[in-house]
Amino acid sequence: MAVSEFALIQRFFTAPALRNSLNQLGVGDDCALIQLPADSEMAVTVDTMVEGVHFFPQADPEQLGQKLLAVNLSDLAAMGATPVSATLALTLPEVNESWLQAFAKGLHQMAESYGLDLIGGDTTRGPLTLSLQLMGCLPKGQAMKRSGAQPGDLIFVTGTGLGDAGLGLKIEQGFSVAKPEQALNKFHTPEPRITEGLKIRSYASSCIDLSDGIASDLQHILDKSQVGGLLDWDKIPLSPSLQDYIQQTGDWQLPLIAGEDYELCFTISPDRLGELDISCTQVGVIDHKPV
Ligand code: ADP
Ligand code: MG
Repeated sequence: MAVSEFALIQRFFTAPALRNSLNQLGVGDDCALIQLPADSEMAVTVDTMVEGVHFFPQADPEQLGQKLLAVNLSDLAAMGATPVSATLALTLPEVNESWLQAFAKGLHQMAESYGLDLIGGDTTRGPLTLSLQLMGCLPKGQAMKRSGAQPGDLIFVTGTGLGDAGLGLKIEQGFSVAKPEQALNKFHTPEPRITEGLKIRSYASSCIDLSDGIASDLQHILDKSQVGGLLDWDKIPLSPSLQDYIQQTGDWQLPLIAGEDYELCFTISPDRLGELDISCTQVGVIDHKPV
């Protein structure tokens, strides 16, 4: 994409100024430069979305820009990190200006909301593939890991209903429920739980974000922490549409195994419950590892 690449980057992916003071140099040089404050660590994550695999070919490009950043922000949230910078590897089959304009708008809007800068990237020609790397910052030793859960800890999830994103996907595929808006919004424009991650990092014993469904994501905490866990089905938060879906289909597993909710699942010792200062629901308890 040699000739138009510079113009394209200049036009769509270069912001007039850097907003986060930790970013010292942005788009336009061989590398970007980030200054790490004393006694801090950088949290780094990357996620790729491939057309036809992770999104529909006709997907709205503005929502794709938002979602690409949101899914990465969700990983930072799970560690309790503050977002600082992003780099974007973009593979495009062609230069479609209106598509790029809308995609960049969604991306920049989300970056502004979370106080981070797009500081670099790479642009190539090929099947539509969106890959974003995100860097966040946190005080040394304060990251929430998957490995800290202890027997007796309580298991919590954020948000008002698990499985809504999975239901949104089913609605896109033709399933019909009363009031589909919440599920569709959750599927197209998930809200990363950055604020919640920053609050809970001082007292949560472990944390993960729900990208694949609580059944498999909680298992990662159990494996890394070498503990067992019990989920209480009656406590799983379910939106009215999801309840409607279960009544129609009998498929009670969806909220446990559907992906892309991007809520946080975390554990906390009972004697730190007084510190809990976010809206969340207790859904289970950590136990000893089964023999
Ligand atoms: P190099 O060949 O040295 O890697 P490039 O010519 O690929 O540099 O890119 C020029 C500048 O534009 C670099 O600062 C790079 O980070 C940035 N850049 C390239 N593609 C993108 C993109 N899709 N989004 C943001 N920045 C980009
Ligand atoms: Mg170079």
